Amino acid sequence: MQVRWNFKMLPNQSQEETLEERLVTLRKHRNYALKERVNGFDTNNQDIDTPIAYAYGAYCEIGSRIEIGSCCPLTCPVLKHGVIPQNLDLATKQSKVKDKTTKEVIGQEREWDSASGIQMKVTSQLRQSLDSFAAIDSCVLQRNIAKLDIAYANFWKQGRGFPQFFKRLDSFEYKPGRVVLRHIRKNYATVYLPGIGEVKFHNSRDLSLIQDLRTCTIKRDAGNWYISMLVEIPGILPELNALDLCRAVVGIDVGITRLVALSDGRFLENKRFATNKRKARRLAMRQRAIARKQKGSKNKIKAVKKLAKQQHKIALSRDGYNWQVASTIIKTADAVAREDLKIKNMVKRAKPKHDGKGGYRRNGASQKTGLNKVILDAGWADIFNKVAWLAVKTGVPVIVVPAKHSSQECPECGHVDKKNREGEKFLCVNCKHVDHADTKASRTLAKRAGLVFPKNKLTLPPDWGKVTLVKLSVPFGTESKNQASGVSPPCAGNSDSRICRRYG
Ligand SMILES: [Zn+2]
Repeated sequence: MQVRWNFKMLPNQSQEETLEERLVTLRKHRNYALKERVNGFDTNNQDIDTPIAYAYGAYCEIGSRIEIGSCCPLTCPVLKHGVIPQNLDLATKQSKVKDKTTKEVIGQEREWDSASGIQMKVTSQLRQSLDSFAAIDSCVLQRNIAKLDIAYANFWKQGRGFPQFFKRLDSFEYKPGRVVLRHIRKNYATVYLPGIGEVKFHNSRDLSLIQDLRTCTIKRDAGNWYISMLVEIPGILPELNALDLCRAVVGIDVGITRLVALSDGRFLENKRFATNKRKARRLAMRQRAIARKQKGSKNKIKAVKKLAKQQHKIALSRDGYNWQVASTIIKTADAVAREDLKIKNMVKRAKPKHDGKGGYRRNGASQKTGLNKVILDAGWADIFNKVAWLAVKTGVPVIVVPAKHSSQECPECGHVDKKNREGEKFLCVNCKHVDHADTKASRTLAKRAGLVFPKNKLTLPPDWGKVTLVKLSVPFGTESKNQASGVSPPCAGNSDSRICRRYG
Protein backbone atom coordinates (compact mmCIF):
# COMPACT_ATOMS: atom_id res chain seq x y z
CA MET A 1 0.00 0.00 0.00
CA GLN A 2 1.02 3.57 -0.57
CA VAL A 3 1.60 5.81 2.43
CA ARG A 4 3.23 9.14 3.09
CA TRP A 5 6.12 9.15 5.50
CA ASN A 6 7.57 12.33 6.95
CA PHE A 7 11.09 12.64 8.25
CA LYS A 8 12.99 15.48 9.79
CA MET A 9 16.04 16.34 7.73
CA LEU A 10 19.39 17.33 9.19
CA PRO A 11 21.05 19.42 6.49
CA ASN A 12 24.44 20.92 7.28
CA GLN A 13 24.92 24.64 7.03
CA SER A 14 25.94 24.81 3.38
CA GLN A 15 23.12 22.47 2.40
CA GLU A 16 20.66 24.62 4.29
CA GLU A 17 21.88 27.70 2.45
CA THR A 18 21.53 25.88 -0.88
CA LEU A 19 18.02 24.77 -0.01
CA GLU A 20 17.04 28.30 0.87
CA GLU A 21 18.52 29.63 -2.38
CA ARG A 22 16.58 27.06 -4.36
CA LEU A 23 13.32 28.10 -2.74
CA VAL A 24 13.95 31.73 -3.67
CA THR A 25 14.68 30.83 -7.31
CA LEU A 26 11.66 28.55 -7.50
CA ARG A 27 9.41 31.24 -6.08
CA LYS A 28 10.62 33.72 -8.68
CA HIS A 29 10.16 31.10 -11.37
CA ARG A 30 6.57 30.46 -10.37
CA ASN A 31 5.71 34.12 -10.03
CA TYR A 32 7.26 34.85 -13.44
CA ALA A 33 5.27 32.04 -15.03
CA LEU A 34 2.06 33.29 -13.43
CA LYS A 35 2.71 36.88 -14.51
CA GLU A 36 3.36 35.68 -18.05
CA ARG A 37 0.05 33.85 -18.12
CA VAL A 38 -1.88 36.76 -16.68
CA ASN A 39 -0.28 39.15 -19.18
CA GLY A 40 -0.97 36.73 -21.99
CA PHE A 41 -4.61 36.53 -21.04
CA ASP A 42 -5.05 40.27 -20.54
CA THR A 43 -3.27 41.49 -23.65
CA ASN A 44 -3.54 38.46 -25.88
CA ASN A 45 0.21 38.87 -26.27
CA GLN A 46 -0.22 42.00 -28.37
CA ASP A 47 2.89 44.07 -27.94
CA ILE A 48 3.15 47.19 -30.03
CA ASP A 49 6.13 45.93 -31.98
CA THR A 50 5.36 42.26 -32.40
CA PRO A 51 2.74 40.83 -34.71
CA ILE A 52 -0.35 39.39 -33.12
CA ALA A 53 -0.05 35.71 -32.50
CA TYR A 54 -3.35 33.99 -32.94
CA ALA A 55 -3.88 30.63 -31.39
CA TYR A 56 -6.69 28.20 -30.97
CA GLY A 57 -7.80 27.90 -27.44
CA ALA A 58 -10.60 27.38 -25.04
CA TYR A 59 -12.29 30.73 -24.66
CA CYS A 60 -13.04 31.53 -21.07
CA GLU A 61 -14.19 34.24 -18.71
CA ILE A 62 -12.25 34.65 -15.51
CA GLY A 63 -15.05 36.55 -13.78
CA SER A 64 -17.69 33.87 -14.20
CA ARG A 65 -15.22 30.95 -14.41
CA ILE A 66 -16.89 29.66 -17.55
CA GLU A 67 -14.96 27.75 -20.19
CA ILE A 68 -16.62 27.95 -23.55
CA GLY A 69 -14.49 25.47 -25.46
CA SER A 70 -12.44 25.67 -28.61
CA CYS A 71 -13.34 28.56 -30.87
CA CYS A 72 -12.41 30.20 -34.12
CA PRO A 73 -8.90 31.73 -34.06
CA LEU A 74 -10.08 34.81 -35.87
CA THR A 75 -12.82 35.72 -33.43
CA CYS A 76 -11.58 34.34 -30.13
CA PRO A 77 -7.84 34.00 -30.11
CA VAL A 78 -7.69 33.51 -26.38
CA LEU A 79 -5.81 30.67 -24.78
CA LYS A 80 -7.22 29.39 -21.50
CA HIS A 81 -4.05 29.98 -19.56
CA GLY A 82 -2.85 32.85 -21.71
CA VAL A 83 0.65 32.14 -22.97
CA ILE A 84 1.61 32.55 -26.61
CA PRO A 85 5.37 32.81 -27.24
CA GLN A 86 6.82 34.89 -30.05
CA ASN A 87 8.48 31.82 -31.49
CA LEU A 88 5.61 29.75 -32.81
CA ASP A 89 7.73 26.59 -32.92
CA LEU A 90 7.62 26.64 -29.16
CA ALA A 91 3.85 27.06 -29.20
CA THR A 92 3.17 23.76 -30.88
CA LYS A 93 3.92 20.19 -30.00
CA GLN A 94 4.08 16.90 -31.83
CA SER A 95 1.25 14.61 -30.95
CA LYS A 96 0.23 11.14 -32.00
CA VAL A 97 -2.89 10.64 -34.08
CA LYS A 98 -4.89 7.60 -33.10
CA ASP A 99 -7.50 5.75 -35.07
CA LYS A 100 -10.83 6.23 -33.31
CA THR A 101 -12.01 2.63 -33.58
CA THR A 102 -8.83 0.57 -33.27
CA LYS A 103 -6.87 3.11 -31.16
CA GLU A 104 -3.70 2.45 -33.13
CA VAL A 105 -1.23 5.20 -33.89
CA ILE A 106 -1.66 6.25 -37.53
CA GLY A 107 0.65 9.23 -37.74
CA GLN A 108 1.79 12.46 -36.13
CA GLU A 109 0.55 16.03 -36.26
CA ARG A 110 1.49 19.37 -34.76
CA GLU A 111 -0.99 20.97 -32.41
CA TRP A 112 -1.06 23.88 -30.00
CA ASP A 113 0.77 23.18 -26.80
CA SER A 114 -0.65 23.99 -23.37
CA ALA A 115 0.58 26.98 -21.40
CA SER A 116 2.59 24.75 -19.07
CA GLY A 117 4.07 22.86 -22.03
CA ILE A 118 5.30 26.12 -23.54
CA GLN A 119 6.64 27.41 -20.24
CA MET A 120 8.51 24.18 -19.57
CA LYS A 121 10.25 24.52 -22.94
CA VAL A 122 11.17 28.11 -22.14
CA THR A 123 12.44 27.02 -18.73
CA SER A 124 14.75 24.42 -20.21
CA GLN A 125 16.17 27.15 -22.46
CA LEU A 126 16.66 29.30 -19.38
CA ARG A 127 18.64 26.51 -17.74
CA GLN A 128 21.24 26.82 -20.45
CA SER A 129 21.78 30.54 -19.89
CA LEU A 130 21.15 31.07 -16.18
CA ASP A 131 23.29 29.45 -13.49
CA SER A 132 20.65 29.73 -10.78
CA PHE A 133 18.27 27.71 -12.94
CA ALA A 134 20.89 25.27 -14.16
CA ALA A 135 21.67 24.33 -10.57
CA ILE A 136 18.12 23.17 -9.97
CA ASP A 137 17.00 19.72 -11.04
CA SER A 138 14.89 20.02 -14.20
CA CYS A 139 12.15 17.83 -12.72
CA VAL A 140 11.78 20.20 -9.79
CA LEU A 141 11.25 23.10 -12.18
CA GLN A 142 8.72 21.08 -14.14
CA ARG A 143 6.81 20.21 -10.99
CA ASN A 144 6.88 23.90 -10.08
CA ILE A 145 5.03 24.74 -13.31
CA ALA A 146 2.75 21.74 -12.92
CA LYS A 147 1.72 23.01 -9.49
CA LEU A 148 0.68 26.27 -11.12
CA ASP A 149 -1.49 24.21 -13.48
CA ILE A 150 -3.08 22.56 -10.46
CA ALA A 151 -3.79 26.00 -9.01
CA TYR A 152 -5.49 26.96 -12.28
CA ALA A 153 -7.47 23.73 -12.39
CA ASN A 154 -8.64 24.39 -8.83
CA PHE A 155 -9.72 27.86 -9.89
CA TRP A 156 -11.76 26.64 -12.87
CA LYS A 157 -13.19 23.48 -11.42
CA GLN A 158 -13.09 23.57 -7.63
CA GLY A 159 -14.21 27.15 -7.08
CA ARG A 160 -10.95 28.21 -5.44
CA GLY A 161 -9.42 31.66 -5.77
CA PHE A 162 -7.30 32.80 -8.68
CA PRO A 163 -3.66 31.63 -8.37
CA GLN A 164 -1.68 34.06 -6.27
CA PHE A 165 1.79 35.47 -6.41
CA PHE A 166 3.82 33.95 -3.60
CA LYS A 167 5.61 36.12 -1.10
CA ARG A 168 7.31 33.01 0.18
CA LEU A 169 7.54 29.47 -1.02
CA ASP A 170 8.18 26.72 1.50
CA SER A 171 8.31 23.52 -0.46
CA PHE A 172 9.34 21.85 -3.69
CA GLU A 173 8.81 18.43 -5.16
CA TYR A 174 10.88 15.74 -6.83
CA LYS A 175 9.31 13.41 -9.35
CA PRO A 176 9.40 9.65 -8.67
CA GLY A 177 12.75 8.05 -9.31
CA ARG A 178 14.85 11.17 -8.74
CA VAL A 179 15.53 10.78 -5.04
CA VAL A 180 17.65 7.87 -3.84
CA LEU A 181 18.10 6.49 -0.34
CA ARG A 182 21.80 5.96 0.29
CA HIS A 183 23.12 5.04 3.72
CA ILE A 184 20.73 3.57 6.23
CA ARG A 185 22.15 3.59 9.76
CA LYS A 186 20.60 3.00 13.13
CA ASN A 187 19.54 6.54 14.00
CA TYR A 188 19.87 8.32 10.72
CA ALA A 189 19.87 7.73 6.99
CA THR A 190 20.96 9.78 4.03
CA VAL A 191 19.03 10.67 0.96
CA TYR A 192 20.46 11.90 -2.32
CA LEU A 193 18.65 14.98 -3.61
CA PRO A 194 19.70 15.96 -7.16
CA GLY A 195 21.06 19.50 -7.20
CA ILE A 196 21.61 19.57 -3.44
CA GLY A 197 23.57 16.51 -2.46
CA GLU A 198 23.41 13.85 0.18
CA VAL A 199 21.34 15.01 3.14
CA LYS A 200 20.95 13.27 6.47
CA PHE A 201 17.55 12.67 8.00
CA HIS A 202 16.20 11.17 11.22
CA ASN A 203 15.57 7.52 10.55
CA SER A 204 12.36 7.22 12.54
CA ARG A 205 10.78 4.32 10.64
CA ASP A 206 11.73 0.95 9.25
CA LEU A 207 13.21 2.03 5.93
CA SER A 208 13.88 -1.55 4.82
CA LEU A 209 10.14 -1.89 4.19
CA ILE A 210 10.24 0.58 1.32
CA GLN A 211 9.61 -1.18 -1.98
CA ASP A 212 9.25 1.91 -4.12
CA LEU A 213 10.05 5.55 -3.51
CA ARG A 214 7.57 7.82 -5.26
CA THR A 215 7.20 11.60 -5.12
CA CYS A 216 9.32 13.35 -2.48
CA THR A 217 8.53 16.79 -1.14
CA ILE A 218 11.02 18.95 0.71
CA LYS A 219 9.39 21.32 3.17
CA ARG A 220 10.54 24.15 5.38
CA ASP A 221 8.64 24.80 8.56
CA ALA A 222 9.76 27.31 11.18
CA GLY A 223 13.42 26.85 10.33
CA ASN A 224 13.18 23.06 10.24
CA TRP A 225 13.48 20.98 7.09
CA TYR A 226 11.32 17.96 6.44
CA ILE A 227 11.17 15.40 3.70
CA SER A 228 7.86 13.83 2.91
CA MET A 229 8.07 10.62 0.90
CA LEU A 230 5.30 8.77 -0.82
CA VAL A 231 6.37 5.17 -0.38
CA GLU A 232 5.10 1.78 -1.41
CA ILE A 233 5.25 -0.65 1.52
CA PRO A 234 4.03 -4.23 1.85
CA GLY A 235 0.66 -4.81 3.45
CA ILE A 236 -2.88 -4.53 2.32
CA LEU A 237 -5.57 -2.47 3.99
CA PRO A 238 -8.08 -4.75 5.69
CA GLU A 239 -11.68 -4.90 4.60
CA LEU A 240 -14.12 -2.85 6.65
CA ASN A 241 -15.94 -4.73 9.40
CA ALA A 242 -19.38 -5.70 8.17
CA LEU A 243 -21.89 -3.46 9.94
CA ASP A 244 -24.23 -6.31 10.90
CA LEU A 245 -21.36 -8.19 12.54
CA CYS A 246 -20.24 -5.23 14.68
CA ARG A 247 -20.66 -5.98 18.36
CA ALA A 248 -20.38 -2.43 19.61
CA VAL A 249 -20.41 1.11 18.39
CA VAL A 250 -18.82 4.08 20.13
CA GLY A 251 -20.29 7.54 19.71
CA ILE A 252 -17.93 10.49 19.98
CA ASP A 253 -18.99 13.98 20.88
CA VAL A 254 -16.33 16.64 20.50
CA GLY A 255 -16.42 19.70 22.66
CA ILE A 256 -14.33 22.33 24.36
CA THR A 257 -14.43 21.65 28.10
CA ARG A 258 -13.98 17.96 27.25
CA LEU A 259 -12.25 17.38 23.96
CA VAL A 260 -14.01 14.08 23.32
CA ALA A 261 -16.79 12.40 25.26
CA LEU A 262 -17.07 8.70 24.48
CA SER A 263 -20.37 6.90 24.75
CA ASP A 264 -18.88 4.48 27.31
CA GLY A 265 -18.61 7.34 29.80
CA ARG A 266 -14.96 8.26 29.38
CA PHE A 267 -13.65 11.70 28.57
CA LEU A 268 -10.52 12.81 26.78
CA GLU A 269 -9.04 16.02 28.04
CA ASN A 270 -8.75 19.17 25.97
CA LYS A 271 -5.19 20.30 26.52
CA ARG A 272 -5.68 23.65 24.79
CA PHE A 273 -2.24 23.72 23.28
CA ALA A 274 -2.45 27.28 22.00
CA THR A 275 -5.15 28.78 24.19
CA ASN A 276 -4.28 27.73 27.72
CA LYS A 277 -3.35 30.60 29.98
CA ARG A 278 0.40 30.15 29.78
CA LYS A 279 0.70 29.57 26.06
CA ALA A 280 -1.83 32.24 25.13
CA ARG A 281 0.20 34.76 27.12
CA ARG A 282 3.42 33.62 25.47
CA LEU A 283 1.94 33.90 22.02
CA ALA A 284 0.52 37.34 22.76
CA MET A 285 3.94 38.47 24.01
CA ARG A 286 5.63 37.28 20.85
CA GLN A 287 3.00 38.96 18.69
CA ARG A 288 3.44 42.18 20.58
CA ALA A 289 7.20 41.99 20.14
CA ILE A 290 6.75 41.73 16.38
CA ALA A 291 4.37 44.68 16.33
CA ARG A 292 6.90 46.85 18.15
CA LYS A 293 9.75 46.17 15.72
CA GLN A 294 10.45 48.46 12.84
CA LYS A 295 9.11 47.37 9.47
CA GLY A 296 11.70 45.67 7.30
CA SER A 297 14.27 45.46 10.08
CA LYS A 298 16.38 42.44 10.93
CA ASN A 299 15.00 42.43 14.45
CA LYS A 300 11.50 42.08 13.05
CA ILE A 301 12.57 39.03 11.06
CA LYS A 302 14.09 37.56 14.21
CA ALA A 303 10.90 38.17 16.16
CA VAL A 304 8.78 36.58 13.42
CA LYS A 305 11.02 33.53 13.48
CA LYS A 306 10.60 33.22 17.24
CA LEU A 307 6.82 33.28 16.95
CA ALA A 308 6.90 30.76 14.09
CA LYS A 309 9.00 28.42 16.21
CA GLN A 310 6.53 28.66 19.07
CA GLN A 311 3.57 27.97 16.81
CA HIS A 312 5.37 25.07 15.17
CA LYS A 313 6.00 23.52 18.56
CA ILE A 314 2.35 23.89 19.49
CA ALA A 315 1.26 22.34 16.20
CA LEU A 316 3.56 19.37 16.76
CA SER A 317 2.27 18.67 20.25
CA ARG A 318 -1.33 18.98 19.12
CA ASP A 319 -0.63 16.60 16.27
CA GLY A 320 0.89 14.03 18.60
CA TYR A 321 -1.89 14.28 21.14
CA ASN A 322 -4.61 14.01 18.50
CA TRP A 323 -3.06 10.75 17.27
CA GLN A 324 -3.40 9.39 20.81
CA VAL A 325 -6.99 10.57 20.98
CA ALA A 326 -7.82 8.99 17.63
CA SER A 327 -6.26 5.68 18.55
CA THR A 328 -8.14 5.60 21.88
CA ILE A 329 -11.39 6.11 20.00
CA ILE A 330 -10.64 3.43 17.42
CA LYS A 331 -9.61 0.85 20.03
CA THR A 332 -12.89 1.28 21.90
CA ALA A 333 -15.33 -0.48 19.61
CA ASP A 334 -15.99 -2.15 16.26
CA ALA A 335 -17.59 0.92 14.75
CA VAL A 336 -17.39 4.67 15.35
CA ALA A 337 -20.27 7.13 15.07
CA ARG A 338 -19.34 10.77 14.80
CA GLU A 339 -21.37 13.88 14.26
CA ASP A 340 -21.39 15.73 10.98
CA LEU A 341 -19.93 19.05 12.08
CA LYS A 342 -19.68 22.06 9.81
CA ILE A 343 -16.65 23.51 11.56
CA LYS A 344 -16.16 26.16 8.91
CA ASN A 345 -19.59 27.57 9.68
CA MET A 346 -18.97 27.42 13.41
CA VAL A 347 -15.94 29.69 13.32
CA LYS A 348 -17.46 32.51 11.30
CA ARG A 349 -17.11 36.08 12.52
CA ALA A 350 -19.90 37.71 14.47
CA LYS A 351 -22.21 39.74 12.25
CA PRO A 352 -22.14 43.50 12.84
CA LYS A 353 -25.28 44.93 14.45
CA HIS A 354 -26.44 48.29 13.17
CA ASP A 355 -28.11 50.67 15.58
CA GLY A 356 -29.99 52.53 12.83
CA LYS A 357 -28.11 55.78 13.34
CA GLY A 358 -25.11 54.89 11.26
CA GLY A 359 -23.31 53.30 14.19
CA TYR A 360 -22.95 49.84 15.61
CA ARG A 361 -24.23 48.09 18.68
CA ARG A 362 -22.26 45.54 20.66
CA ASN A 363 -22.32 42.22 18.86
CA GLY A 364 -19.98 40.15 21.03
CA ALA A 365 -17.34 40.06 18.30
CA SER A 366 -14.34 39.77 20.60
CA GLN A 367 -16.04 37.03 22.59
CA LYS A 368 -16.80 35.18 19.36
CA THR A 369 -13.21 35.60 18.20
CA GLY A 370 -12.02 34.09 21.47
CA LEU A 371 -14.39 31.16 21.06
CA ASN A 372 -13.29 30.65 17.46
CA LYS A 373 -9.68 30.50 18.62
CA VAL A 374 -10.55 27.82 21.17
CA ILE A 375 -12.52 25.82 18.59
CA LEU A 376 -9.67 25.94 16.10
CA ASP A 377 -7.17 25.10 18.83
CA ALA A 378 -9.06 21.91 19.68
CA GLY A 379 -8.52 20.63 16.14
CA TRP A 380 -11.76 18.67 15.75
CA ALA A 381 -11.36 18.27 12.01
CA ASP A 382 -7.84 16.99 12.60
CA ILE A 383 -9.17 14.37 15.03
CA PHE A 384 -11.84 13.29 12.55
CA ASN A 385 -9.22 12.93 9.82
CA LYS A 386 -6.97 10.89 12.07
CA VAL A 387 -9.86 8.70 13.18
CA ALA A 388 -10.72 8.18 9.51
CA TRP A 389 -7.19 7.08 8.65
CA LEU A 390 -6.82 4.74 11.62
CA ALA A 391 -10.28 3.37 10.81
CA VAL A 392 -9.21 2.54 7.27
CA LYS A 393 -6.05 0.93 8.64
CA THR A 394 -7.93 -1.27 11.12
CA GLY A 395 -11.12 -1.88 9.17
CA VAL A 396 -13.37 -0.03 11.59
CA PRO A 397 -16.32 1.66 9.86
CA VAL A 398 -16.93 5.30 10.71
CA ILE A 399 -20.55 6.40 10.49
CA VAL A 400 -21.26 10.10 10.11
CA VAL A 401 -24.59 10.99 11.68
CA PRO A 402 -26.53 14.27 11.73
CA ALA A 403 -25.58 16.43 14.71
CA LYS A 404 -28.87 18.25 15.07
CA HIS A 405 -30.20 18.43 18.67
CA SER A 406 -27.75 15.73 19.78
CA SER A 407 -27.18 17.58 23.05
CA GLN A 408 -30.84 18.42 23.69
CA GLU A 409 -32.59 15.16 22.93
CA CYS A 410 -33.49 12.97 25.93
CA PRO A 411 -32.33 9.37 25.50
CA GLU A 412 -35.21 8.05 27.62
CA CYS A 413 -38.29 9.80 26.28
CA GLY A 414 -36.92 11.50 23.15
CA HIS A 415 -38.01 14.93 24.38
CA VAL A 416 -36.06 17.74 22.66
CA ASP A 417 -35.72 20.95 24.63
CA LYS A 418 -33.09 23.63 25.06
CA LYS A 419 -33.84 23.69 28.79
CA ASN A 420 -32.76 20.05 29.10
CA ARG A 421 -29.18 21.15 29.20
CA GLU A 422 -27.53 23.24 31.83
CA GLY A 423 -23.76 23.44 31.48
CA GLU A 424 -22.37 19.95 31.89
CA LYS A 425 -25.60 18.66 33.35
CA PHE A 426 -28.42 17.07 31.42
CA LEU A 427 -31.80 17.04 33.13
CA CYS A 428 -34.84 16.17 31.04
CA VAL A 429 -37.70 18.56 31.81
CA ASN A 430 -40.17 15.90 30.70
CA CYS A 431 -39.06 12.66 32.41
CA LYS A 432 -36.37 13.91 34.85
CA HIS A 433 -33.64 11.76 33.29
CA VAL A 434 -30.22 12.84 34.58
CA ASP A 435 -26.91 12.38 32.81
CA HIS A 436 -23.68 14.12 31.90
CA ALA A 437 -24.52 16.28 28.91
CA ASP A 438 -21.52 15.36 26.75
CA THR A 439 -21.71 11.65 27.49
CA LYS A 440 -25.40 11.70 26.72
CA ALA A 441 -24.75 13.51 23.44
CA SER A 442 -22.23 10.87 22.43
CA ARG A 443 -24.73 8.11 23.28
CA THR A 444 -27.37 9.83 21.19
CA LEU A 445 -24.91 9.91 18.31
CA ALA A 446 -24.11 6.23 18.76
CA LYS A 447 -27.83 5.49 18.73
CA ARG A 448 -28.31 7.48 15.54
CA ALA A 449 -25.80 5.24 13.80
CA GLY A 450 -28.69 2.79 13.58
CA LEU A 451 -26.82 -0.21 14.91
CA VAL A 452 -28.77 -2.02 17.60
CA PHE A 453 -27.18 -4.31 20.20
CA PRO A 454 -27.95 -6.99 20.95
CA LYS A 455 -29.77 -7.86 17.77
CA ASN A 456 -33.25 -8.44 19.19
CA LYS A 457 -33.17 -5.74 21.83
CA LEU A 458 -33.99 -2.21 20.79
CA THR A 459 -31.68 -0.51 23.24
CA LEU A 460 -28.03 0.33 23.05
CA PRO A 461 -25.99 -0.80 26.03
CA PRO A 462 -24.09 2.32 27.03
CA ASP A 463 -21.18 0.42 28.52
CA TRP A 464 -19.79 -2.30 26.38
CA GLY A 465 -18.02 -5.19 28.10
CA LYS A 466 -14.72 -4.79 26.33
CA VAL A 467 -14.40 -1.27 27.62
CA THR A 468 -15.69 -1.43 31.16
CA LEU A 469 -13.78 -4.61 31.97
CA VAL A 470 -10.37 -3.08 31.39
CA LYS A 471 -9.90 -1.66 34.88
CA LEU A 472 -12.61 -1.08 37.39
CA SER A 473 -10.39 0.21 40.15
CA VAL A 474 -9.49 3.83 39.64
CA PRO A 475 -5.87 4.54 40.56
CA PHE A 476 -5.25 6.88 43.46
CA GLY A 477 -5.40 10.54 42.65
CA THR A 478 -6.93 10.15 39.23
CA GLU A 479 -10.51 9.74 40.34
CA SER A 480 -12.92 12.08 38.73
CA LYS A 481 -16.57 12.67 39.31
CA ASN A 482 -19.16 12.63 36.66
CA GLN A 483 -20.63 15.82 37.97
CA ALA A 484 -24.04 15.44 36.49
CA SER A 485 -24.97 12.02 37.81
CA GLY A 486 -22.66 12.09 40.83
CA VAL A 487 -20.83 8.83 40.06
CA SER A 488 -17.30 8.22 38.95
CA PRO A 489 -17.02 6.83 35.46
CA PRO A 490 -15.52 3.35 35.70
CA CYS A 491 -12.72 4.00 33.28
CA ALA A 492 -11.62 7.51 34.10
CA GLY A 493 -8.04 7.97 33.03
CA ASN A 494 -5.46 10.44 34.15
CA SER A 495 -6.58 12.99 31.66
CA ASP A 496 -9.98 13.47 33.16
CA SER A 497 -8.87 14.51 36.63
CA ARG A 498 -6.58 17.12 35.20
CA ILE A 499 -9.30 18.88 33.35
CA CYS A 500 -11.43 19.03 36.49
CA ARG A 501 -8.63 20.58 38.44
CA ARG A 502 -7.39 23.03 35.92
CA TYR A 503 -10.19 24.26 33.79
CA GLY A 504 -13.27 22.34 34.84
ZN1 LIG B 1 -36.75 12.56 29.01
